[in-house]
Amino acid sequence: MKLSSITAALCLTMLSFWVHAHNVTIPKDISELALKKVTDDVYVIHGIQGLPEKQNKGFISNSGIVVSDDGVVIIDSGGSLQIGEMILQKISEVTDKPVVAVFNTHVHGDHWLGNVAVRNAFPDARLYAHERAIERLNSGEAEQWLDIFGSAMGDAIEGTRAVVPDTALKGDETLKIAGNTYKMHHTGKAHTDSDIMIEHPASKVLFAGDIVIYGSTVSGARPEDFSAKGQIAAVEYALGLPVDIYVPGHGPTGDREIPEATLRFLEVLYESVQTYYDEGLADFEMRDKVVADLAEFSGWSGMDRIGRLISFVYQQVEAAEFE
Ligand SMILES: [Zn+2]
Ligand SMILES: [Zn+2]
Repeated sequence: MKLSSITAALCLTMLSFWVHAHNVTIPKDISELALKKVTDDVYVIHGIQGLPEKQNKGFISNSGIVVSDDGVVIIDSGGSLQIGEMILQKISEVTDKPVVAVFNTHVHGDHWLGNVAVRNAFPDARLYAHERAIERLNSGEAEQWLDIFGSAMGDAIEGTRAVVPDTALKGDETLKIAGNTYKMHHTGKAHTDSDIMIEHPASKVLFAGDIVIYGSTVSGARPEDFSAKGQIAAVEYALGLPVDIYVPGHGPTGDREIPEATLRFLEVLYESVQTYYDEGLADFEMRDKVVADLAEFSGWSGMDRIGRLISFVYQQVEAAEFE
C-alpha cells in the first residue's frame, strides 16, 4: 500500500470514528423514544424535531437524565403527562432509584409540562427553574401553555396539568443533589428571560436548554421571547465552559460543533438582517435574501416559517439603532 493510500485509509477510519462518536439518531416518531447513554451516568432522550401535535404528544425537546446511587435528576420533563410517564418508564429500565429533582431549563411548555408525571410518581421530588420562569408561569402563563398544547394535541395529552416548578433559582448557584454537583448558569435574556444552563462537572456535560438548538431554526418557535444578541452572548459563554459534551434543547447531543452551529445560525441571521435593514429593506422584503444567506441551514426544520423570526430580529436591529 502506498503511503498516500495508507494515510487516506487512516483518515477515513478516523473520520468514521469521529462521526460515530457523535452519531445520535433523532427520532421521527414517538415510538422511537429511547434512552441514549452519553457517559457512565448521563443519558439523553432526544425529542423529534417539529411542533407539538397529536402524534408526538409534545415529544419535541430533549430530556437529560443523571443517575447516581442516591437518586435520579431529570433535566426537562417533556411536553405532556404522557411524555413524562414515558421518560420515567425509560429511566426505570436502567435504575430503580427515585427521581429526586427536575430542572426545567426555561418557561416554554415542551420543557416542563411533563412535570405532572414526576409529581404523581415522586411527590417529594424538587422541581427547579429560574425565578423568572416560575414568576411567569404563576402569573397566567402556565394556563396559556396548557391551552396551546391542549388545542394542538387534545385528548392525546389528557390528564396533563400544570405543575409549576417549586424551587426558584437565580442562575448562579452550585447545588449538591443526590451526591452530584450541579452548576447553574444564567446570562440574562437570551432564548427567553428565564433560561438556566445546567453544568454537571463530574461528566463535563452541559445541559444547555434552548440556548443551544441544532437542526431547527434557533428560537424560531417563540421569537417574541428571545434576544438575538443575548442568545449569541449566551452561546459564546457556553462555549467557554469547561465541558466536553453539549446537550441542546433540541437536536443531537455532541461536542462543540453543536453550539458552534447554533452560534453561526444566529450570527448569520443577525448580520444578514442588519445588512438589508441598512439597505432600507422592510422585513418581508428581505426574507428570501436572508434565507439565501442561511443556506448552510436549509435542511433545518422551521425554515419554512422563518418570516416571524426575521421580523423579530428586524425589530431588535431597529431598536439597537436608537440605543
Ligand atoms: Zn424547546
Ligand atoms: Zn424554548
